[in-house]
Amino acid sequence: TTPNSPRTALVTGAGSRRGIGRATAHALAADGYAVAVLDLDKEAAEEAARDVAARHGVQTLALAADVTDADAVDAAVAQAEAALPPIGALVNNAGITSPVPFLEVSPAEWDRIFDVNVRGGFLVTQRVAAGMAERGFGRIVFLSSVSAERGGGVFGGVAYSAAKAGLLGFARALARELGPSGVTVNCVAPGLIDTDITQGKLDEARKAAMVADIPVRRIGGVDDVADVIAFLTRPGSGYVTGATYDVNGGSHIH
Ligand code: NAD
Repeated sequence: TTPNSPRTALVTGAGSRRGIGRATAHALAADGYAVAVLDLDKEAAEEAARDVAARHGVQTLALAADVTDADAVDAAVAQAEAALPPIGALVNNAGITSPVPFLEVSPAEWDRIFDVNVRGGFLVTQRVAAGMAERGFGRIVFLSSVSAERGGGVFGGVAYSAAKAGLLGFARALARELGPSGVTVNCVAPGLIDTDITQGKLDEARKAAMVADIPVRRIGGVDDVADVIAFLTRPGSGYVTGATYDVNGGSHIH
């Protein structure tokens, strides 16, 4: 593929209407990517695909799949490969959080959090990366979290923080392996972003207390994160790899 030939961005977990993945799908479409929306929630994925196509006039495709299921991931990516231009960008955004205090974390809860956040990223990335390397171009972004860097705190407990920290090592090691093939691999580590991930469990008083501690004095919006991801998926960002971009309003400066 030449620099200007059409490419597809695959965004996992982009169904959620108020989520980071959805905003990212819009941002990448605005940059000219065709977009494959993959989500556990089939209706949400279909609605997202229609929404992105209507707003940006790009080709889109809805893929219903669980990122923890290797066969489902394989089938979904095959569907995208058959229907859309070659995959140039992958955003590993599907994720779930868990506030369970460490002494109460069951092995099943631990596995649930690692399955979606880490195994999911592994399965989708491995399925997509071979083609990227073959074509000599790829932009892979993982959604880590400030929880990984500062040790929980916003909403995620130990399991979530460990899983999101796992992604930092994952991305750095993969950046070394895939760099020679023209594929960059980076992480974005958001702080508190206004989405539905906390499922209403973060009350207004707690939010206000947090905002008082954030230097820019507001909770982040999904576009704050999507803009950084869009930068990391552009051809022009090819000299940035193995990096972690904080998007936290200064709440964790390190
Ligand atoms: P969200 O809950 O709004 O959206 C997550 C999406 O992932 C949903 O559409 C859901 O259906 C999908 N999903 C969940 N499990 C899946 C699976 N097994 N297979 C396929 N899809 C699945 O979440 P969000 O707040 O937009 O978060 C997006 C990413 O950003 C997550 O990885 C999250 O951990 C990370 N993050 C969020 C925040 C925040 O404050 N919102 C902060 C730091 C990091």
